[in-house]
Amino acid sequence: MIKLAVDLDDCLLNTSRLILDRINQYFSKSIKLEEVVSFHIEKLFNLNAEVVDMIVQECLSTIIRPNRYAVEALNFLSDFYDICFITNRRSTQYQSTKTNLEVLGFKFKYDFYLCNKDSRGIPAKAELLNKLGIEFIIEDRPDTIEDIYNRTNCNILVMDKPWNRNIAENGRICIDRDWMEIKQVLMDIVLLGDV
Ligand SMILES: [Mg+2]
Repeated sequence: MIKLAVDLDDCLLNTSRLILDRINQYFSKSIKLEEVVSFHIEKLFNLNAEVVDMIVQECLSTIIRPNRYAVEALNFLSDFYDICFITNRRSTQYQSTKTNLEVLGFKFKYDFYLCNKDSRGIPAKAELLNKLGIEFIIEDRPDTIEDIYNRTNCNILVMDKPWNRNIAENGRICIDRDWMEIKQVLMDIVLLGDV
């Protein structure tokens, strides 16, 4: 089976919706998701970084809804792909993350991995992907995408978000709008051997 890794926040889970709602509430703002063109919302809108981090960490400790069609697509793909989840969440969020995955209703067995940031502050996913022999990853974070591109042979399905629009498609990078498209691309690979 082909090995597929899936990022949790804003790939499998609709994390930014929850975080943005809480940020808007706390700071009395009405920032729209389309305006979040950087991964660092605190710099973009000049918000207190510590408060933003607190809100983000609080959100990551709760149960977050999946993105539309994500669970259905992965259940379908699990007949063809060996699926695991890789996240840059903190070890203190291990239990809530495990529970979040459990309540989604996956019909397949999966592993999930927490990985730290490296010395540059980039989630250290590249090494783990190499170690696990992952051939495809679904990811949304720009610095992580770039690092995986440079340091692995992994193919990257980029979940299209306002903060990663500077990423361009090429032989190993494919941009997808939603899980319908991701499922289509991954099934084309199974059926046609085509990226
Ligand atoms: Mg993510």
